[in-house]
Formats: sequence, C-alpha cells, structure tokens
Amino acid sequence: MSSSLHAVDAELDAVARDADDPLRSFREEFLIPPHGDGHLHYFCGNSLGLQPRAAREVIELELDRWARLAVEGHFRGDTAWMTYHEGLRDGIAMLVGAKPIEVVAMNTLSVNLHLLMVSFYRPTHARPAILIEAGAFPSDRHAVESQIRFHGFDPAQCLIELAPDEPGGTLSMQTIADVIEREGNRIALVLWPGVQYRTGQAFDLAEITRLAHARGAMVGFDLAHAVGNLPLALHDADADFAAWCHYKYVNAGPGAVAGAFVHARHAHADLPRFAGWWGHEKTSRFAMGPQFVPAPGAEGWQLSNPPILAMAALRPALGIFQRAGMSRLREKSLRLTGYLESLIHEHLADVLHIVTPAETVRRGCQLSLRVREGRDAGRSLFEFLSENGVLGDWREPDVIRISPAPLYNTHLDVLRFAQLTAVWRDSTR
Ligand SMILES: *Cc1c(COP(=O)(O)O)cnc(C)c1O
Repeated sequence: MSSSLHAVDAELDAVARDADDPLRSFREEFLIPPHGDGHLHYFCGNSLGLQPRAAREVIELELDRWARLAVEGHFRGDTAWMTYHEGLRDGIAMLVGAKPIEVVAMNTLSVNLHLLMVSFYRPTHARPAILIEAGAFPSDRHAVESQIRFHGFDPAQCLIELAPDEPGGTLSMQTIADVIEREGNRIALVLWPGVQYRTGQAFDLAEITRLAHARGAMVGFDLAHAVGNLPLALHDADADFAAWCHYKYVNAGPGAVAGAFVHARHAHADLPRFAGWWGHEKTSRFAMGPQFVPAPGAEGWQLSNPPILAMAALRPALGIFQRAGMSRLREKSLRLTGYLESLIHEHLADVLHIVTPAETVRRGCQLSLRVREGRDAGRSLFEFLSENGVLGDWREPDVIRISPAPLYNTHLDVLRFAQLTAVWRDSTR
C-alpha cells in the first residue's frame, strides 16, 4: 500500500491539486522555515503561525517613527500610536464575525480571560458555578479555578468539568445540552472553546449560547484555536464575551497582542470591571480627571496604552486575512484537511487513528492523531517526522496534531507527511 503513496501518480496528483488552488499565491507572503537543503513542512500553525514577510517592515516603520518623532509619534502620521488599535478593529471584527464596537486588540489571551470574567463571572451563593470541558487548556483551567477562589468559592463544588462521551475524547451536543439542563440553575458562566486544542473538535457556538442563556448563565468563548481557522459569527452567536490569541492561525508573532469581544448589548452597560486609563472614554481621557468613564464597547476594557511594536505585526497579518477572505480560506481548508484525512484512510489506517470528528462542521483544519500501537510508537513517529522535516506537534499523553493551514500549506506538504509516516511504519515492521 505504501508504494502507491510514493508513486509518481501520487506526487503528480498533489502538484495538480496545488496548481488548482486559487489561494496558492498567499504562501509566497510567508517565510517558510528552512530544513536541510529545502524547507520544513510546517503543520504547527495551531501553535505558532509563520511570519508574514511584511511583518519586519511594519515593525521597522514604527521603530523609525519612534526614532524620528519620539513622543510626537503618538499623534502624527497614518499610524499614530494614540489610535493604533483602531486601525486593527475592522480586520479583527471580520475575523470573528463581530461589529467593530465589539472587538479590541489588547493584552494577551489569559489576561483577557481574567479581565472579562471580572465583568461576566459574578457568582452568587445560588449561582456560583463555571462550566468548562474536561481536559481544558491548562491556562483556562487555572483562570477559572482562580476566579472561583477569588470570589471565595470552592472549585471542588463550583467548577463543572464536562467529561467527553464520545470514543476519541470528543463531546456530543447532547451531552453539553444535558449538563446545561441539569446544572443550569447553578451555572453562572459557561466558558467554552471554539475548537478544543487537543481533539480539534469545533463546537456549535450559537447553540451552546442559546442553551446557556435559556438557563440564565453568561457565555464566554475561548477562540484560541478557532480564530483564523473557521469563519466565526460571534455577534450572531450571541456570546457575552470572547477572547483569543493572535499568534496561532492569525500569524501575528510569538506572544502577539490578543483579541477580546464584548457583545454590543453590553457596549453601554455599567458593568463592574478592572479599569485603566486606556479604557476611559476617548474624548475626555486626557482631561486626566479622577472619575472613570468607560469607552463604549470592548475598548472600554483596555487598561494600558498598548505595546505598539508588538501590535504592529497584527497589521500585515490581518491584512492577509482580509485579502484571502475567511470563506475562501475555509473552502481550501476543507480540501486540504480532507486530503490529509483521505490519505490516512486509504494508506495509513493500520497506523493512525483520527481523534478529530469526521463531520466537517465539527472540526477546523487540525487533525489530532493517535498511533494505534500506543504512546511510545506515537513518540517514535513524531520524532521521525520532525527529524525529516515534517513538523506537527505533540500533546500529552499521546496525540500528534497536524494542522494544515490554508494560507501557507500545500497538498505536497500533506503528501510528505503521509509518505514519511509510511516509511516509518515500514521501517518498524
Ligand atoms: C494557546 C492557548 C492559550 C495560551 O494562553 P496565552 O495567555 O496566550 O499564553 C490559552 N488557552 C487556550 C485554549 C489556548 O489554545
């Protein structure tokens, strides 16, 4: 079987698929890391997206403006620092399907989760609980647990972690609906991932919101693995808040400035919050008065004047998404990940089990894979792939994540993954 993966036909087929790809030129806008005499087959966009070629120039522009203008850089030029974040708003709103007033680039993901929970997790004795998925990303779990403690409640009672009910570790909508039905009257907040980081499962955010709101709970989404991966419609999904990072599929660089969403219905609400001067209403911010008047919308949650050099990398990253368009990217992503899935089914079913749901509405670009022989074989395959220039990532205890990113991955990259996996299998037999 493996021979057919290495046949000229398989290569020609992958090359033809790439030639057919209307988005193929976007790959040229990224720096593909070298490997040996060639380049890496990079499947780690779920962890750190590749550098857009344009990033260096926009950062250098701000270094230059700092050198020439110093404090005047706050007010002068097209990229005046005072309003720098406003230039990112429309691009972010498009990415997550929000109104411009609902989004802001600020801080980092875990920080934003905390700041938004300060406003939207208001536990009472009757309703103290937070619902998350079991096996949540550690930072999210630390955040909710510490929020519960901060309010004087006990996580052992107030943190509900929903265990997977499907074989690979994924969750059916019925199980989510059941727990909201059963525990709804004591749930203050449902904090849910758009795409679960370990399994790659995508969720119906509108349905989760509908169910939770019907029981009187607030709803927040962590979109770290969903943004730039799936078309999102946060406003229509009706979430109260959301937060995400921009260094994964959005390609804005390590530790990039993150994103936050607050639904328009809260834009003018007088919600409790941890305030800072940058969230103060713009026209009177520099009156420097003692009274905090929040800016309407998500901007009202800002604390500090933002790190411009870091934020600069967001501009070209968002620009690429605006030009490519999320729906065209999703079309390509379905083809590319579908191709990966079909190669696994046809040639590697004896080695790999796909954890991620097969229904395309329940996944983004990532496939989470388990090696059938177990963890040690899984590590061995993962290391073999890495040494040979195919970089996915490893998530304990036994998952290899392969995420073909439609902006820069090719069908040939995917074929290379399958070919090397077959070589590894044949060498271990
Ligand atoms: C990547 C990721 C994080 C990382 O948090 P930072 O604050 O950006 O370091 C947190 N939660 C989830 C679900 C993630 O996928």
